[in-house]
Amino acid sequence: MDREDRLNALAEQFEQCSPQEILAWAVSEYSPDIAMSTGFGPSGIVLMHIMRQMGLDIPVFYIDTGFLFPEVHQLRALLEQTLGVRFERVVPTLDLEEQAQQFGEKLWERDPDTCCWLRKVLPLQAYLRGKRAWVSAIRADQTPYRSRAKLIEWDERNQVVKINPLLRWSKDRIWEYIRHHRLPYNPLHDQGYPSVGCIPCTTPICEGEDLRAGRWRGKAKFECGIHFQKG
Ligand code: SF4
Repeated sequence: MDREDRLNALAEQFEQCSPQEILAWAVSEYSPDIAMSTGFGPSGIVLMHIMRQMGLDIPVFYIDTGFLFPEVHQLRALLEQTLGVRFERVVPTLDLEEQAQQFGEKLWERDPDTCCWLRKVLPLQAYLRGKRAWVSAIRADQTPYRSRAKLIEWDERNQVVKINPLLRWSKDRIWEYIRHHRLPYNPLHDQGYPSVGCIPCTTPICEGEDLRAGRWRGKAKFECGIHFQKG
């Protein structure tokens, strides 16, 4: 059985398992070469809380594109205090000035795919080099692409096993968990921003709009690319 078949078989088995069981397996298999990413959304906060309750010491990293909302930095500090998470900050090779010099001003308006590639995809790739597994808090109900993800899958681009323990959880279940455990979350979610990314590419949504309609508004773009497996 090759690697992909083995992971597919495991993913099938884990369909009956809890996030705790999946995380326990992941740590036993890959620690210390394993890390979790977060964009500080509600699912990531739930996953960090579950890991804390299990006493797991998986490093948690975030990509600081240079465009994070002040509320995100405040939330990070709050999570450090309340959950005791020590976050690792990952930054792009080019700062914003260098990017403007090499690619022109406001690249995100003209070519958001290249901007996301430079500011998110490449830094992630660099961080994961040397790791064997990457834990993510994506959910199947977030985007059509994520609905096709698996609980455990091979990430060809980053050459790691990707583990998505909350893939089958719904948005409502995540929010019930946050309320039940009184966890902190980004206050922008109560101000019309159900999904929060970089400042220039995030707007509030109107009633009835898709929850990610505020991301890259007006552009045919729905993912930054870090969760894409394609080239
Ligand atoms: S979300 Fe926007 S600003 Fe952030 S990296 Fe992507 S294109 Fe650039």
